[in-house]
Amino acid sequence: MESCVFCEIVAGRAEASVVHGDDDVVAVLDHRPATPGHVPVIPRVHASGLAEAGDAVGAPIWRAARRVAAALRVSGLRCEGVRLSLADGEAAGQDVFHLHLHVVPRYRGDGVVVSAEWRRRSREQLDRDAALIRDALA
Ligand SMILES: [Zn+2]
Repeated sequence: MESCVFCEIVAGRAEASVVHGDDDVVAVLDHRPATPGHVPVIPRVHASGLAEAGDAVGAPIWRAARRVAAALRVSGLRCEGVRLSLADGEAAGQDVFHLHLHVVPRYRGDGVVVSAEWRRRSREQLDRDAALIRDALA
């Protein structure tokens, strides 16, 4: 496997400012944070994306993200809200191909932009889209 920066952090071979570590995940400060206190929660096992990560990988990530989010709110860092985000695939904005969940402190005027065209779809289109996804889930 080619070198993975998150595997290096998990192994303690790469520098990181750790905020939480347990048997399943490591949570560190992002070196290029959206806002101060931005924490990617990283599973110890390497999975490049959602398809490779089993359900057993997800629960500890979620548990740690909720704890970090609660801690951020009382940490003294500016945090009026929290945004969780996970990018799966390059088109989704994934930059490190080791699954991770971002915990981002948010506050009014923080400069973080979540942008889309938010185009309305008709009920017929929505029902057609829903059928495609239901079929894929089956
Ligand atoms: Zn990795």
